[in-house]
Amino acid sequence: MPEPLDYVAGIKPYVPGKPLQELERELGLMGSIKLASNENPLGPSKKVLAALKKSLEDGQQLSRYPEGSGYYLKNALSDKLSRNRATVSPDEILLGNGSNELLNMAVRTFVGRGDEAIMATPSFVVYAMAVQAVGAVPIEIPLVDYRHNLVEIAKAISNKTKMVFIANPNNPTGTINKGDEFEKFMESVPESVIVVIDEAYFEYVTDPEYPDTMRYLKNGRDVLILRTFSKAYGLAGLRIGYGISQQSVFVEMNKIREPFNTNTLAQLAALAALEDEEHLRSSVAVNEEGKEFLSTGLGSLGLAYVPTQANFIYVPLPVDSKVIYDALLHKGVVVRPVGKKEIRVTIGLPEENKRFIEALRTSIQ
Ligand code: PMP
Repeated sequence: MPEPLDYVAGIKPYVPGKPLQELERELGLMGSIKLASNENPLGPSKKVLAALKKSLEDGQQLSRYPEGSGYYLKNALSDKLSRNRATVSPDEILLGNGSNELLNMAVRTFVGRGDEAIMATPSFVVYAMAVQAVGAVPIEIPLVDYRHNLVEIAKAISNKTKMVFIANPNNPTGTINKGDEFEKFMESVPESVIVVIDEAYFEYVTDPEYPDTMRYLKNGRDVLILRTFSKAYGLAGLRIGYGISQQSVFVEMNKIREPFNTNTLAQLAALAALEDEEHLRSSVAVNEEGKEFLSTGLGSLGLAYVPTQANFIYVPLPVDSKVIYDALLHKGVVVRPVGKKEIRVTIGLPEENKRFIEALRTSIQ
């Protein structure tokens, strides 16, 4: 083969966890629980399952190409987003194979070799990887108090900066940046920079000071808001997310979009999921209940967890996170080590949360 591009050769690949069944086989365990990938512990809505089953009855849906423009889903999203806010037209929405694909597409559209893009650290690792994949330079600004340091991020903007990523809530810390500071930050970002506001955990946020980012779009700013069906809607396995931005941004991104980037079943499932608001409410309620339980439990273990606005909790530990990760693993509880001394645990069902706290109690002693 030819030499890979130098900037591709330098990328550290994303390391996915081993399948749960494999881990269980290796460790001789059964009945393990996975609290590692911020998935919805309730699974998808029953309405989604019914819609999928029905669509599969004659096989037609599988032999035909997907609806390439995402017409119906974009219309349904437009209706939903327009219900209690300023109107969002279907042209101001773009579908992706997960929001992950959309952030890669955004980078490939606006960021090139030698350019810079700014992000926080630690934050969602895919931002830096997407930027490196086009030969551009990721500029990583450390969090302050576990939150994006918007002042330092604004200061880091140079004439090479094309894009800034803000994960709100942030993964892995679950924190948000609030209205006022966000407003000041947006005022300091030049029009030539596109701000990607990653709201993958939007539906879980309860803080009333969470910024209404749609307002920036209405004010003509080129922000790209990313949301997903992977988390609160429980469709991570089908890969479907969406972006909301100015139509002009999507005219450009559409030029590099694969013609059938979102699959038929994902579109159909997302449409059905949007109609089941009750399931969404239950998912958020289960998360709130779990948040309460885990916060109390972690507190009782003397651990200074970070209060979360998402469906996971970041837990700084007094010891090496790999040691705790391994100890938990041997007790059939899979979490994510996210730093030398930090783990991230996804909020699960009540019995899963209980099991995690008990396993952690015996692991840190
Ligand atoms: N953004 C953030 C902050 C995330 O945590 C994730 C998933 N872990 C994503 C984007 C990607 O989600 P998806 O591609 O499943 O929509």
